[in-house]
Amino acid sequence: MNHNLFETFARRMNARNQSAFIVTPEGRDFTYADAVSLSARLAGGLIALGVKPGDRVAVQVDKSPEAILLYLACLRMGGVYLPLNTGYTAAEIGYFLADAEPALFVCRPESIADARQIAADTGCPQVATLGVTGDGSLMATATSAEPFERIEERAENDLAAILYTSGTTGRSKGAMLTHRNLGSNAKTLMETWRFSEADRLIHALPIFHTHGLFVACNVILMSGASMLFLSRFDVDTVIEAMADGTGTTLMGVPTFYTRLLQDDRLTPELTRHMRLFTSGSAPLTAETHREFEKRTGHAILERYGMTETNMNTSNPYEGDRIAGTVGLPLPGVELRVANPETDTHQPLPQGEIGMLEVRGPNVFIGYWRMPEKTRAELLDDGFFVTGDLGMIDERGYVHIVGRDKDLVISGGFNVYPKEVEQLIDDMDAVLESAVIGVPHPDFGEGVTAVIVLQPDASIDEADVTAALKSHLAKYKQPKRVFFVDSLPRNTMGKVQKNQLRETYKDIYANA
Ligand code: AMP
Repeated sequence: MNHNLFETFARRMNARNQSAFIVTPEGRDFTYADAVSLSARLAGGLIALGVKPGDRVAVQVDKSPEAILLYLACLRMGGVYLPLNTGYTAAEIGYFLADAEPALFVCRPESIADARQIAADTGCPQVATLGVTGDGSLMATATSAEPFERIEERAENDLAAILYTSGTTGRSKGAMLTHRNLGSNAKTLMETWRFSEADRLIHALPIFHTHGLFVACNVILMSGASMLFLSRFDVDTVIEAMADGTGTTLMGVPTFYTRLLQDDRLTPELTRHMRLFTSGSAPLTAETHREFEKRTGHAILERYGMTETNMNTSNPYEGDRIAGTVGLPLPGVELRVANPETDTHQPLPQGEIGMLEVRGPNVFIGYWRMPEKTRAELLDDGFFVTGDLGMIDERGYVHIVGRDKDLVISGGFNVYPKEVEQLIDDMDAVLESAVIGVPHPDFGEGVTAVIVLQPDASIDEADVTAALKSHLAKYKQPKRVFFVDSLPRNTMGKVQKNQLRETYKDIYANA
């Protein structure tokens, strides 16, 4: 039996034939029949460029339908798709090419000179280009090459993709994802979220990350649905797509929802054609969840996953979508809360906060060429140590309290940033906050709050300190409070706490 993920997709694609797969606001539309034939052409192009089954194909291109067809082509001919963040600089790309040793690097047409240099420096044998309208050398090669009409035979545990983690500390690691990992998760999500041929997803996420590439595109391909492919999130375009009924679902990061909430056009009437809104990649505050429900009648369905594991938990489709939680483990996924202070990985009693560890067909098989890191995080019993701290409540819903590395240890006591952030966020004057630990001569780390105020609000450090006093033990109270215009975020909407720690690293130097 061929376990190539493309084999599963191909069944749906052939059945959907002339139905839409990707449409764009510019009218660059692709049917499923187009996806079948163009993926064969592009696979032929890859082979003509020397790519063999098992070879990595590194890709740093702007979002376009053709980039998804390239991903499909790569699966089809047994290559390993390796997408790279469009924001990476030439120097960063050099690291990835040297580490992954791809057989081909596909870059933007305008980056060809740099790309050739990096390829020469890192021993990458081929470079091709792909632009936002399908322009560039890759399509030209594909057009003149013999199409690859077959589907290369793959085993369950053969690699389908390598995704580098965003790596805020240390070197970025290449998560090795198999055909089974991606296929099992796509099927589970399609079923859990009830995706069908009738759906049209408003796709406004980047496609170099697990959310926009696998959660979004694989679920669509698995269900034979279609997507409105937007180059980026733009409030006007998304609102238009909801208003005229073009879209039925939206997969977002929390910032999509906070931005939509700032717009008066967001009403029950606007969202009447929408079936489902999901959120992930960063915490959705309970307040945003409630506010969105109040404004539209839709309870955003929050889920939790990561590059290494695909999706692990989800709020239910039917049943309570509880604000501030990431829901229940998905079918087939086991999740335990282990004591982070011992090496035994024993589950803690229900309700206690600890390290989230997950096991299932969704969990990757290791970090590319990093056996020690793999051994440290992927345990012998198959559980992966996520690095996220959380707990399971009495109804079985998972709550995330933050990344292990964001935990603040002040005077020997653990402070979970989320507990403090939630209290600060509850203040009327506050839009959002981030709580970090920075070096402190007496306490090891000092709890420090960085706050963004609501427009026109004015409170000061003393107001915040006074408001928290009766709610928090002394060691949890921020020793300093800073006000900023916005929090630093990456493209997935995650607050970059490492940047904040750097900015404020010296504030207690003379304390
Ligand atoms: P990435 O590998 O870039 O997808 O990042 C994965 C990390 O994002 C997880 O380990 C979590 O820390 C965080 N994350 C993803 N989804 C959520 C969520 N719904 N709530 C809180 N954190 C999340």
